[in-house]
Amino acid sequence: MAKYKLKIDPGHGGKDPGAISSFGNEEDWTLKISLYQYNRFKELGVSVSLTRDSDETLTEDQRVALAQEGEYCISNHLNAGGGDRAEVIHSIYDDGKLANAIKYQLESAGQTNVKVYCKQGKSGDYYYMHRRTGKTKTNIVEYCFIDNEADFTHFKNNWEAYAEATVKAFCSHIGHPYRTKDIQKSTVTVTQSEILYIQTGGYAGPALQTIHDYLFETGHGFDVKRGGDGSIVFLIGPFDNTKPNFQECRVSVSRIDGHMQLLTQEQASKWR
Ligand SMILES: [Zn+2]
Repeated sequence: MAKYKLKIDPGHGGKDPGAISSFGNEEDWTLKISLYQYNRFKELGVSVSLTRDSDETLTEDQRVALAQEGEYCISNHLNAGGGDRAEVIHSIYDDGKLANAIKYQLESAGQTNVKVYCKQGKSGDYYYMHRRTGKTKTNIVEYCFIDNEADFTHFKNNWEAYAEATVKAFCSHIGHPYRTKDIQKSTVTVTQSEILYIQTGGYAGPALQTIHDYLFETGHGFDVKRGGDGSIVFLIGPFDNTKPNFQECRVSVSRIDGHMQLLTQEQASKWR
């Protein structure tokens, strides 16, 4: 029996930077993605461990041995060569179900072109992370092309959503209960004269509902506006000064997540 359900492998590291471009080194991004996922799996109660958690050199043998501690291994990479897509590579002996679940979630998160495949080598799998990791079910995920400015910029602006996509796909694949990221608690204070704006994406459903319910229950005045792009803005403010608690009006928005942001007065101006 494997020591961990999942081993996350941040590709490269230390003496091996991986792909290098003017936008950054692969080793740094793979670590960033992997640490995010590690924390998320911990939060969700999935037994998880990393092959490296710092800028460390791993030999092929060391990486293989560490990966084998997992029933599954997800090896995170960024591609190079100027393409415009993500890739999920599974073993030639694998049915590709997890790889396709990752593809589905990456596409839902906005990486619209995701290629799933396996690659035959001279004997067995082409990539050693598949060929040498034995029973461990390994998937290599390439999130974008680091040397394609458009693809990389899109990734850089959405990397948490992409990292999360793999978390969500893995949970659904193993049948583990999934919930969105625990939210950084943030308390915001609205004064008598100002209106607070919280913008969300249209797909932040449960969080939106929570904010709505909270405002409703606590009697805070609010209004909702919808943008043409599906975004939603909650306006919280002095719409109803008759509420007894309005004087302090501390809006404890405990469900602000990655899909939401508090707008500055300047950003909010287009919503007025
Ligand atoms: Zn790589």
